Amino acid sequence: MTAGPYTRCPDCGFIVPPESMDFGLTPDRAGIDWSRPVRVTCPCCHAGYPISAGDMVPPDAEMTCHHCGTGAPHPAGAARVLCPGCGLFLLGPDLSTSQRGELRITEGMTGLAARAAVQAAKDRRAPRRGGTGTGQ
Ligand SMILES: [Zn+2]
Ligand SMILES: [Zn+2]
Repeated sequence: MTAGPYTRCPDCGFIVPPESMDFGLTPDRAGIDWSRPVRVTCPCCHAGYPISAGDMVPPDAEMTCHHCGTGAPHPAGAARVLCPGCGLFLLGPDLSTSQRGELRITEGMTGLAARAAVQAAKDRRAPRRGGTGTGQ
């Protein structure tokens, strides 16, 4: 697993590695073909956005993954750091207390929004057969 390019998410403003990435390879398959549109999604707020080579924030720091011990290079100030060893999104080591709070809110909100969407989909599936819910 290789870490994708870090970019600043235009939606939540955090520097993050892509949660997922849609791109083409150069003809020699050695790298990303920047002449084609490259789209990534943010691991924090899950917004999808296009990036270009100029949007990349180069890694200039490294942290050690608490899970597998692999060194994970990242740009200073990144909110999330993708471990190239185990693929975990680690919490960036350089965030201030207020940034950590902001990140928790951003990720919490998207989590809640996702749960609400699932619940809404369930509610639309009427009619319900008897029995008052066990919840899940
Ligand atoms: Zn984001
Ligand atoms: Zn790891």
